[in-house]
Amino acid sequence: MSAHQDDAGTPSAARLSRRALLKGAAASCGALGFGFGPDQAIAEAPRAREGRYLIKNGVVLSMDPKVGDFDRADVLVEGGKIIAVRPNISATATIIDSRNAIVMPGFTDSHHHFYQSPLRNVLGNGLLDDYFRDIVEKATPLFRAEDAYDGVLSGALRSISSGVTHVTDLSQVSNTPGHSDAMIKAFRDSGIRAVYAYSRGYGAGAKYPEDAERMLKQHFGANDGLVRLALSTAISKDQWLLARKLGLRIYTHVVGNLAAVAPAGVIKLGDEGLMGPDNVYIHFTNATDAHMKRVKDTGGHLSLAVPIEMTMRHGTPPLQQALDQGIIPSLSSDVETTMTSDMFSIMRSAFTLQRMLINERAIKNEKNLPPLLSAKDVVAMATIQGARCNGVESLTGSLTPGKAADIILLRTDRTNVMPLNNAYGAIVTGMDTSNVDTVMVAGKILMSRGKLTGVDLAALQKRITASRDFIIEKAGWPKSAVDSSMPGH
Ligand SMILES: [Zn+2]
Repeated sequence: MSAHQDDAGTPSAARLSRRALLKGAAASCGALGFGFGPDQAIAEAPRAREGRYLIKNGVVLSMDPKVGDFDRADVLVEGGKIIAVRPNISATATIIDSRNAIVMPGFTDSHHHFYQSPLRNVLGNGLLDDYFRDIVEKATPLFRAEDAYDGVLSGALRSISSGVTHVTDLSQVSNTPGHSDAMIKAFRDSGIRAVYAYSRGYGAGAKYPEDAERMLKQHFGANDGLVRLALSTAISKDQWLLARKLGLRIYTHVVGNLAAVAPAGVIKLGDEGLMGPDNVYIHFTNATDAHMKRVKDTGGHLSLAVPIEMTMRHGTPPLQQALDQGIIPSLSSDVETTMTSDMFSIMRSAFTLQRMLINERAIKNEKNLPPLLSAKDVVAMATIQGARCNGVESLTGSLTPGKAADIILLRTDRTNVMPLNNAYGAIVTGMDTSNVDTVMVAGKILMSRGKLTGVDLAALQKRITASRDFIIEKAGWPKSAVDSSMPGH
């Protein structure tokens, strides 16, 4: 973090960064093996260079057909990058014993509103209408910059702890430029790889979208670091043109049953030649096959928040419709006010939804059906396809030598998947976040032995609770966790 960035209008309460929440993080990442129980930890070789890791003897799923998968192989990491993926690598490095683990690229969550972490689960039963009334119109204008910081930091740490190494944020709480600055800082403090898709805010202090230019200059330089800037937009020609002028990727919510953001509006912009490979369409429900074909023909990307779309009435996730047009969607969580951001749950929802729809057609004797999704197909959506959606597939999304070391270890010595018989099947149909053991982003270990490295969870809970208390108080909502008087509760 440069002094330049630290000076960027960060609110005083946001000074307690991940580093401040750390308890000897450097020490915890030092000379010990990151293995599986003290008896199996392997001592570091004495001359291992800093940041050089040898992930040894894991089941390796590379998600790169040229590299392939291995029942047992090693991954060598140095300087934040993957150097080699193959069996029997010999190198002087800090050993990460993965003999009881699946080693794979971290997950990508391609659409998440991170600032809402203080309001997790408030709308467990909520529909879109409840969300617009309670979260968009009521709660979001109340967020201070420090609440946005806490929400993003807490959300990012939650993502890391569930094996997600790469996220796209659409926090629609840029109520002042200070809010935006605080959220960018929170992502940098968390250590996660992020696309910060700058979004609208509320009140007189909001400077969307023109503040994008300042943010780009002030915080992003070449815009190629761990946190990158993009633009979250309406279906708006002006906003799309601004994004392109600044070289920013475009993320747009498209929901078929809401006239203002229905797919037909996107196609209109397409008729003006404005749909392109830098467009990411979120949800894209209730589209016609012709609409979907336009996305394919113009090289656009889809982010499907499958569980949210099913529970909040966005319309049926257009998973099969996309596949029928040759589009492989990425997967996303959307809002933790109403659904978990856990990628295992999201993968499982996509897997069972597609198979339910096809199975039902098979039961009705329909012929020439599309293929059922396999577990590997779904893992690809949650990894390499997320990287493609964010335009960084040359950088992350697979265990490919030369790419960033964004790697997770999923434990296989847990009751839910032992003995390991089918690695992809275990991930999609058997595992949950309790299997996540080690998480590395750009070669930096952010989680080890199932624990975030050095994060003081009690301090984090105190901060996020204080933010929650402030917002709930101002909103006049019930303070009880069992009071069901709030609509959508
Ligand atoms: Zn959304």
